[in-house]
Parts: sequence; structure tokens; C-alpha cells
Amino acid sequence: MANKRDYYEVLGVSKNATDDEIKKAYRSLAKKYHPDVCKEPGAEEKFKEVNEAYETLSDPQKRQMYDQYGFDGPQANFGGGAGGFGGFEDLGDIFANFFGGGMGGQRSRGGVKRGDDIERLMDLQFEEAVLGCKKTINIDVSEPCTACGGSGAFSKSDIQTCSKCQGSGYVTIEQRTIFGMTRSRTVCPKCGGRGQEIKKKCEKCNGKGSVTKNKNIEVTIPAGVDTGMQIRVAGKGGAGELGGEPGDLYIRFRVKPHKVFKRDGDTIILSAPISFSDAVLGTNLAIPTIYGDVSLKVPAGTQSGTKFRLRGKGVQNPRTKRTGDQIVEINLVTPTNISPEEKKIFESLQNIDTKEKKSPWEKFKSLFKK
Ligand SMILES: [Zn+2]
Ligand SMILES: [Zn+2]
Repeated sequence: MANKRDYYEVLGVSKNATDDEIKKAYRSLAKKYHPDVCKEPGAEEKFKEVNEAYETLSDPQKRQMYDQYGFDGPQANFGGGAGGFGGFEDLGDIFANFFGGGMGGQRSRGGVKRGDDIERLMDLQFEEAVLGCKKTINIDVSEPCTACGGSGAFSKSDIQTCSKCQGSGYVTIEQRTIFGMTRSRTVCPKCGGRGQEIKKKCEKCNGKGSVTKNKNIEVTIPAGVDTGMQIRVAGKGGAGELGGEPGDLYIRFRVKPHKVFKRDGDTIILSAPISFSDAVLGTNLAIPTIYGDVSLKVPAGTQSGTKFRLRGKGVQNPRTKRTGDQIVEINLVTPTNISPEEKKIFESLQNIDTKEKKSPWEKFKSLFKK
């Protein structure tokens, strides 16, 4: 750091400034440049600079070192000096921070907490899942608290610079380990990294900075979803705290079976019952698809179980956007409860079969004759 500004200059105090003057100067600057408050470009750098200056000048030993050696002094940044846990009243806090430090990104700087993700199960009709739809869902959504403007404090004067970290949000911890003394910078255990303490919490939001409201929201369900799939609705999960973003809402689907259509991935399967005479003579059928009827020519002599493919009449894949096919499986329905007239016709058919040509059954049996 070649162009580092002098610490006294940073805080705008004289070389002979008293501890109180330094503290006062620091507080007003930290407040001014706090990243939660100041949105000017470069504010964060200034804030860091101010904190660094204060970290050194507020400590008599570090200050003396700095006065003597400047930035290049021995361990000037973190000061030499008394080890141990001086200044920490509560060891529990420190260890909680050491071990809970990561928190999977849920708790970021400033005690600002992202809201929880929420999962909801949604039942869909077959057509709704295949074609997509709009659904209204009732959830608790988070909104910034109007009473405190999201700060969580009862009034502006209830927001004070954290006494433990002096507003930096971080503290330096010295620890004796088998490797000797180690120093590490960690989130301030008192303010959770906000750099602020709230003396009196906002009564409306109880210090959270946000309130939850029960609302109906409209969700667009994309075409092609199926049981077990889920979609993410960003920002509609649990409320964040102290200006933290809300979590996401995950909607997982459960699709009800259809009366006639079956689904296998992007393919829709339909079993088409046809009569014996239609199978023998051939016919044109208006085949139902999810997109409306489609004409299908069933040729003469179609066997039961024959499959026809209707291209592009299946399900649009929600990821690839490619539309599958519909498979029509011919299901020959053997007539029952036939009229005497029909019975006569079938009897004469049976006679023709045995007299003029072998029936399918006789052909089959002849395979076993030697
Ligand atoms: Zn603090
Ligand atoms: Zn509030």
C-alpha cells in the first residue's frame, strides 16, 4: 500500500488528538460512510480506511508504534503487544463466531439475514401441467417495515455505533495455539457485523426491519411440468432480516392422472378402442389429443396393439422446449352382448373361416402338428 493516507489525516484529527477526539471523529465518519447508509461510490473503501485508522489510533500501543514507525512499523497493522483475550468479555461469543462463521452464506455482513427458502406442494390437473397455467397461491411475503424504514430501530437515535467493533463490523481475535499466537479477523460477535447496535427495537417489526403480509400471488406454471418437478419463484420465500433479501419459493408439483391420457416423459399415450369391423375394413378416427382432435387413418386389417405416432402432439419439455409425440395404441374391442342379427353375421363369418380358409387359431395349432 504505497499511497496510504496518514491515519490522522483519515480521521481528520491532529497528531496530538486525545482519545476522545479520535473516538468522536471516528464515529461521525463511520456513520457517514457505513455501507448500509452511504451509497456513494467508494464509500466502502472510505469506511474501511476509517476503520483501519481507528483500529490503530484507538490502541495506545499501536498508536505509539505508528507514530514511531509509520505504516512500515513492526506489525503496524495489527499492532504488537499484549496477547491473550483482552477486551473480550464473552468467550462464548468468540467461539460461536469461529465455528459458525460460514453459515452457508445465509448470514452475510451486518446481521443482514436472507430469508428462508420455502417449499410448497401444488396439485395440478393433467392439462394444466402439460399446457402450463397460471395459479394463485397464498403465501406470506416479506415487505420492508414502513415504521422504521427497514432499519429495525424504534427511532434514528436508537441506532448507535457498535461499542465492541466501533462500527467496523469486525474484530481481531488473538489466540494462543500450538503454532503460537494467531490473529484473525472475524465478524463482530456483538453486532453480528452490522457495526451498529439498536438500543430500542422498532415495535412494529420487532427489530427485523421487515414485516410479513399474507398475500395471494399469481404464479405462471410453465408447460410440461410433471410430478416431482419443481420451479423456483424468486423472492417469494421467507422474509429477510434487516434489509436481507427474502428467500425463494419452490413449488413442487403433483399431477393428477388423466381419464384417458397417460404420460411417459414427453410422450403422451392414448389407447384407442376400435371395433372389429373398423379394424377389418379400416376407418378414419378423430383422435383426441391435448391440443384438440387429430384425424388418424386406420388402414384395413389393423391389428390390436398397433401403434401410431402423432408427431408433436405430446408434451413440450420445459427444459429443452422440444415437444414430444402422442402414441395411439389400437385396442380392438371384442363385442359382447351382441344382437341376434349380429350373432347370425358372426356365425356365418365363422363358417366361412372354417370352410374357405384356416382360422388364425387353426394356423396356430398346425404349428404343433408333426
Ligand atoms: Zn460490532
Ligand atoms: Zn420496523
